[in-house]
Amino acid sequence: MRLFSDDDDNDELPEDLDDEFPLGDGTVDTEAMVVCPYCGEAVDIAIDPGGGMDQRYEEDCEVCCQPWQVHVTYGREGQAAVTITALD
Ligand SMILES: [Zn+2]
Repeated sequence: MRLFSDDDDNDELPEDLDDEFPLGDGTVDTEAMVVCPYCGEAVDIAIDPGGGMDQRYEEDCEVCCQPWQVHVTYGREGQAAVTITALD
């Protein structure tokens, strides 16, 4: 009996690039790239899947320290959609 060994020989298959959501594998986004509405910088923020499917909270931009309203929505496959708006 012969089994395929999975020892990273197949890394170069281009189709692997889009397979970021293996269903049922427990893959959940824990960080997201957002663009600050004040300074325009792209910033990676940590997000907490334990906070629920729909989260709103305030967070300060780590570049310019202005306050954001953060809105995180998790999809069924664990992918997060994050919206940042200026908090006035
Ligand atoms: Zn900023």
